[in-house]
Amino acid sequence: MIQILIQPNPFALFVIFQVAIYSGAVYENKTSLKGLPMLKIDPIKISKIKGFLDEAEAGRLYDLALEASRSAPCLEIGSYCGKSSVYLGCACRENGAIFFSVDHHTGSEEQQPGQEYFDPELLDKETGKIDTFRLFRKTIEDFDLQDTVVPIIGRSDIIGRAWKTPLGLVFVDGSHAYESVLKDYQVWADHVRSGGYLVFHDIFPNPADGGQAPYLVYQQAVASGLFDAAPLFKSLGVLKKK
Ligand code: MG
Repeated sequence: MIQILIQPNPFALFVIFQVAIYSGAVYENKTSLKGLPMLKIDPIKISKIKGFLDEAEAGRLYDLALEASRSAPCLEIGSYCGKSSVYLGCACRENGAIFFSVDHHTGSEEQQPGQEYFDPELLDKETGKIDTFRLFRKTIEDFDLQDTVVPIIGRSDIIGRAWKTPLGLVFVDGSHAYESVLKDYQVWADHVRSGGYLVFHDIFPNPADGGQAPYLVYQQAVASGLFDAAPLFKSLGVLKKK
C-alpha cells in the first residue's frame, strides 16, 4: 500500500501532463534576443484568430510594447479581430499598463462585400454590414484581457484629435488608403512620448510585395527628423521618438 502511494504512476503522470497541455497550462518559455521574457501563448489558440500578422512581427511587437508600456499606455489603430491586440495587450499587462485598441469595426475598404479581403463570417446578417467587434470582443475574453485591452470604437482621426494621454507606443495598422494612413500619422505622432515608438505595419519598399501607402507615409515620418528609424523588421517600420 505504501509503495503504491509513494511511487508515481507513469500513466497518471502522462494523463496529467496531456491535460495540462490541452488546457493550455504548459507553454514554451522562451527568452527573446534582447533578453526580455517572451510571451507565453498557446500557438493553436492564437492561430485561430483571424488576422494578417506574421508570427515574427508579432513577437517584435510584443517586445516593443513590453519596453514601452513600462512608462505609458500603448495604443493600436486597426483592431480587426484582435490578433495584434493579444500580443500587445499581453505585453502591457506584464507592466500593469492599459492598451487601447481603436477601430470603427465596420471593416476597411478591401474587406467590404465583393472586395479582395471580404470574409462572409464578419457580415452582420441583420444590417448587411461588416462587424468585426463581435469577434474582437471574443478574442479579448478568450485571452482574459478585459482588464487590459480597452476597445475604442470610432474613426481613428476623430479620436486622435481629442486625445490627451501621452503614449509609449502607437501601432498604425488601420485603413491602408494613403489619405487614411497619412491622417493617422499626422494625428497620432504627436501623442507618442519622447522615447516611445511609432510603428507602421505593411511597409513594403518593393511595390511587388504590397501596397505603397504605408511606406510613403513611413518615409515622411522618417524625413520629419522627429524619430530614429530602426532597420525594417520584415514589414514593421519601427520609429523611436527623439
Ligand atoms: Mg496590417
